[in-house]
Amino acid sequence: MKKFIGGNWKMNLLESQAGEFAKALDKAYEDGVEVVLFPPGLMLKTVKDSVNRLGVGAQNLYFEEKGAYTGEISIGMLEDMGISHSLIGHSERRTVFLEDDVLINSKLKAVMKSRVTPVLCLGEHLGQRKDGLAEATVKGQLVTALDGVESIEGLIIAYEPVWAIGTGMSATPEDAESMAKFIRGEVERLYPGFGKKTRIIYGGSVNGKNIGDISKLENVDGVLVGGASLKLDEFTEIMRYGRD
Ligand code: PEP
Repeated sequence: MKKFIGGNWKMNLLESQAGEFAKALDKAYEDGVEVVLFPPGLMLKTVKDSVNRLGVGAQNLYFEEKGAYTGEISIGMLEDMGISHSLIGHSERRTVFLEDDVLINSKLKAVMKSRVTPVLCLGEHLGQRKDGLAEATVKGQLVTALDGVESIEGLIIAYEPVWAIGTGMSATPEDAESMAKFIRGEVERLYPGFGKKTRIIYGGSVNGKNIGDISKLENVDGVLVGGASLKLDEFTEIMRYGRD
């Protein structure tokens, strides 16, 4: 199983910058890991046309096929453009745009029937961690997201503690490993046989410095990167995941 590195550009860069930046990343990539860029929806085509070796994913999608859903992008539109992945349930979608577990479940059910591979994001808030509820929170999110999902073949799960996203305060390697192991156990319980073959990645203030420690974790199969994915040097270092 190749390690997975996602670069979530969030709402950054301009169309006029995206192609050049994607080309530079594509050039810096060394074989061995799977790297997928997640640009804003408006730049998907440009980024797709600018890379040869990197994948391109959407930051969000809607579960209905088509119709009166102003502002949304369907799975069919992504498939038609050759977009291989999509984030589902990123904490900024949950917090800023009030996406709940039920909506995330609808998205996951729909996307699992398509050619688009989901990266399902889970993670607790700081208060929940302080109250000893981190595992219970993540388990609740996982179980609800997967409700009625028949197969999870290919699914990628990103553990992203909300307090670590964009704060510079990464989880300790021990905490990241412990939660990844916990999620793996839950996946195995829900879908016997899938615990080992499901990639579980970590996200939250990953950078060129802490990537070395994260890449050594047994149950962590890669990273989802926000801020550092917009910096060529940092992301190049992250793409060297697992190399000395
Ligand atoms: C993210 O957007 O998923 C993320 C982890 O952001 P950052 O790396 O900036 O914390």
